[in-house]
Amino acid sequence: MKPVVAIVGRPNVGKSTLFNRLAGARKAIVEDIPGVTRDRLYDSSDWNGREFIIIDTGGIRFNEGDIFAREIKLQAELAIEEADVIVLVLDSREGITAEDEQVANLLRKSNKPVVLAANKVEEFKKQLDYYEFYKLGLGDPIPVSAMHGYNTNELLDAVISHF
Ligand code: GDP
Ligand code: MG
Repeated sequence: MKPVVAIVGRPNVGKSTLFNRLAGARKAIVEDIPGVTRDRLYDSSDWNGREFIIIDTGGIRFNEGDIFAREIKLQAELAIEEADVIVLVLDSREGITAEDEQVANLLRKSNKPVVLAANKVEEFKKQLDYYEFYKLGLGDPIPVSAMHGYNTNELLDAVISHF
Protein backbone atom coordinates (compact mmCIF):
# COMPACT_ATOMS: atom_id res chain seq x y z
CA MET A 1 0.00 0.00 0.00
CA LYS A 2 1.23 3.46 -0.86
CA PRO A 3 1.76 5.84 2.05
CA VAL A 4 -0.91 8.51 2.46
CA VAL A 5 -0.04 12.20 2.80
CA ALA A 6 -2.83 14.52 3.99
CA ILE A 7 -2.84 18.29 3.55
CA VAL A 8 -4.58 20.11 6.41
CA GLY A 9 -5.07 23.71 7.50
CA ARG A 10 -7.65 26.44 7.75
CA PRO A 11 -9.28 27.91 4.60
CA ASN A 12 -7.26 30.09 2.21
CA VAL A 13 -3.78 29.13 3.37
CA GLY A 14 -3.14 27.48 -0.02
CA LYS A 15 -3.94 23.79 0.54
CA SER A 16 -5.52 23.24 -2.88
CA THR A 17 -2.74 25.16 -4.64
CA LEU A 18 -0.17 23.00 -2.86
CA PHE A 19 -2.16 19.85 -3.64
CA ASN A 20 -2.16 20.71 -7.34
CA ARG A 21 1.54 21.49 -7.19
CA LEU A 22 2.41 18.21 -5.45
CA ALA A 23 0.00 16.07 -7.45
CA GLY A 24 2.06 16.85 -10.53
CA ALA A 25 1.69 18.69 -13.81
CA ARG A 26 0.54 15.70 -15.82
CA LYS A 27 -2.70 15.42 -13.88
CA ALA A 28 -3.18 19.16 -13.54
CA ILE A 29 -3.64 19.42 -17.31
CA VAL A 30 -6.98 17.65 -16.93
CA GLU A 31 -8.16 20.58 -14.85
CA ASP A 32 -7.70 22.93 -17.79
CA ILE A 33 -10.53 21.25 -19.66
CA PRO A 34 -13.65 23.39 -19.22
CA GLY A 35 -16.24 21.70 -17.04
CA VAL A 36 -13.86 19.47 -15.12
CA THR A 37 -12.27 22.14 -12.99
CA ARG A 38 -13.73 20.59 -9.87
CA ASP A 39 -11.63 20.28 -6.73
CA ARG A 40 -9.85 16.98 -6.67
CA LEU A 41 -9.45 15.40 -3.26
CA TYR A 42 -7.14 12.48 -3.92
CA ASP A 43 -4.32 11.82 -6.31
CA SER A 44 -1.25 9.68 -6.50
CA SER A 45 2.16 11.20 -6.89
CA ASP A 46 5.80 10.34 -6.45
CA TRP A 47 9.03 11.96 -5.38
CA ASN A 48 12.49 10.48 -5.80
CA GLY A 49 10.89 7.21 -6.82
CA ARG A 50 8.69 7.02 -3.72
CA GLU A 51 5.00 6.77 -4.60
CA PHE A 52 2.31 8.11 -2.32
CA ILE A 53 -1.34 9.13 -2.19
CA ILE A 54 -2.03 12.77 -1.49
CA ILE A 55 -5.30 14.09 0.01
CA ASP A 56 -6.58 17.67 0.14
CA THR A 57 -8.66 17.46 3.32
CA GLY A 58 -9.87 21.03 2.79
CA GLY A 59 -12.03 19.76 -0.04
CA ILE A 60 -13.73 17.15 2.14
CA ARG A 61 -17.11 18.37 3.26
CA PHE A 62 -18.85 17.07 6.34
CA ASN A 63 -22.31 18.14 7.45
CA GLU A 64 -23.97 20.93 5.55
CA GLY A 65 -24.04 24.05 7.67
CA ASP A 66 -21.20 23.02 9.93
CA ILE A 67 -19.35 25.99 11.27
CA PHE A 68 -15.89 26.40 9.76
CA ALA A 69 -13.96 25.71 12.95
CA ARG A 70 -15.74 22.39 13.40
CA GLU A 71 -15.17 21.40 9.81
CA ILE A 72 -11.44 22.15 10.01
CA LYS A 73 -11.27 20.04 13.17
CA LEU A 74 -13.05 17.12 11.49
CA GLN A 75 -10.73 17.38 8.48
CA ALA A 76 -7.70 17.28 10.78
CA GLU A 77 -9.10 14.28 12.70
CA LEU A 78 -9.67 12.46 9.43
CA ALA A 79 -6.08 13.17 8.42
CA ILE A 80 -4.80 11.90 11.76
CA GLU A 81 -6.77 8.70 11.26
CA GLU A 82 -5.97 8.04 7.62
CA ALA A 83 -2.59 9.59 6.85
CA ASP A 84 0.97 8.42 7.35
CA VAL A 85 2.30 11.97 7.11
CA ILE A 86 0.38 15.22 7.62
CA VAL A 87 1.30 18.50 5.95
CA LEU A 88 -0.02 21.46 7.95
CA VAL A 89 -0.22 24.46 5.64
CA LEU A 90 0.22 27.92 7.19
CA ASP A 91 0.02 31.42 5.73
CA SER A 92 3.31 33.24 6.32
CA ARG A 93 1.64 36.56 5.60
CA GLU A 94 -0.93 36.15 8.35
CA GLY A 95 1.06 34.23 10.94
CA ILE A 96 -0.53 31.99 13.57
CA THR A 97 -4.31 32.30 14.03
CA ALA A 98 -6.57 30.67 16.63
CA GLU A 99 -7.65 28.09 14.05
CA ASP A 100 -4.01 27.22 13.28
CA GLU A 101 -3.44 26.68 17.00
CA GLN A 102 -6.47 24.40 17.30
CA VAL A 103 -5.31 22.22 14.43
CA ALA A 104 -1.73 22.23 15.75
CA ASN A 105 -2.97 21.08 19.17
CA LEU A 106 -4.80 18.12 17.63
CA LEU A 107 -1.76 17.19 15.56
CA ARG A 108 0.62 17.41 18.51
CA LYS A 109 -1.56 14.98 20.47
CA SER A 110 -1.54 12.48 17.61
CA ASN A 111 1.52 10.37 17.01
CA LYS A 112 1.60 11.20 13.31
CA PRO A 113 4.59 12.87 11.69
CA VAL A 114 3.78 16.47 10.76
CA VAL A 115 5.54 18.65 8.19
CA LEU A 116 4.89 22.39 8.43
CA ALA A 117 4.51 24.19 5.11
CA ALA A 118 4.96 27.93 5.66
CA ASN A 119 3.24 29.01 2.46
CA LYS A 120 3.20 32.30 0.51
CA VAL A 121 6.83 33.28 1.11
CA GLU A 122 7.54 34.41 -2.45
CA GLU A 123 7.84 37.97 -1.25
CA PHE A 124 11.45 37.70 -0.27
CA LYS A 125 11.32 40.74 1.97
CA LYS A 126 8.87 38.82 4.14
CA GLN A 127 10.90 35.63 4.23
CA LEU A 128 11.70 35.80 7.92
CA ASP A 129 8.05 35.87 8.95
CA TYR A 130 7.75 32.11 8.94
CA TYR A 131 10.00 31.78 12.00
CA GLU A 132 6.88 32.50 14.06
CA PHE A 133 5.64 29.00 13.22
CA TYR A 134 8.29 27.42 15.45
CA LYS A 135 5.94 28.41 18.29
CA LEU A 136 3.48 25.72 17.20
CA GLY A 137 5.84 23.10 18.63
CA LEU A 138 5.64 20.89 15.55
CA GLY A 139 9.21 21.20 14.33
CA ASP A 140 10.85 23.23 11.61
CA PRO A 141 8.56 25.19 9.30
CA ILE A 142 9.57 24.83 5.67
CA PRO A 143 9.14 28.07 3.70
CA VAL A 144 7.35 27.41 0.39
CA SER A 145 5.37 29.14 -2.30
CA ALA A 146 2.74 26.73 -3.55
CA MET A 147 1.82 29.25 -6.20
CA HIS A 148 5.31 29.58 -7.66
CA GLY A 149 6.69 26.17 -6.72
CA TYR A 150 9.41 27.68 -4.57
CA ASN A 151 11.07 25.14 -2.23
CA THR A 152 8.43 22.45 -2.67
CA ASN A 153 11.31 20.03 -3.33
CA GLU A 154 12.51 20.54 0.23
CA LEU A 155 8.96 20.01 1.48
CA LEU A 156 8.71 16.73 -0.44
CA ASP A 157 12.09 15.59 0.89
CA ALA A 158 10.77 16.16 4.42
CA VAL A 159 7.52 14.31 3.65
CA ILE A 160 9.14 11.18 2.23
CA SER A 161 11.71 11.08 5.05
CA HIS A 162 8.80 9.92 7.27
CA PHE A 163 7.72 6.97 5.09
P1 GDP B 1 -7.17 26.59 0.49
O1 GDP B 1 -8.46 27.22 0.88
O2 GDP B 1 -6.31 26.35 1.68
O3 GDP B 1 -7.31 25.40 -0.38
O4 GDP B 1 -6.37 27.71 -0.35
P2 GDP B 1 -6.23 27.88 -1.94
O5 GDP B 1 -5.25 26.92 -2.51
O6 GDP B 1 -7.59 27.89 -2.53
O7 GDP B 1 -5.57 29.32 -2.00
C1 GDP B 1 -6.16 30.43 -1.36
C2 GDP B 1 -5.63 31.70 -1.99
O8 GDP B 1 -4.24 31.83 -1.73
C3 GDP B 1 -5.78 31.70 -3.52
O9 GDP B 1 -6.07 33.00 -3.92
C4 GDP B 1 -4.40 31.28 -3.98
O10 GDP B 1 -4.11 31.74 -5.27
C5 GDP B 1 -3.51 31.92 -2.94
N1 GDP B 1 -2.22 31.23 -2.78
C6 GDP B 1 -1.99 29.92 -2.65
N2 GDP B 1 -0.68 29.66 -2.57
C7 GDP B 1 -0.04 30.85 -2.65
C8 GDP B 1 1.33 31.25 -2.62
O11 GDP B 1 2.26 30.47 -2.52
N3 GDP B 1 1.56 32.59 -2.69
C9 GDP B 1 0.55 33.50 -2.80
N4 GDP B 1 0.89 34.78 -2.87
N5 GDP B 1 -0.73 33.15 -2.86
C10 GDP B 1 -1.04 31.85 -2.77
MG1 MG C 1 -9.02 24.35 -1.00
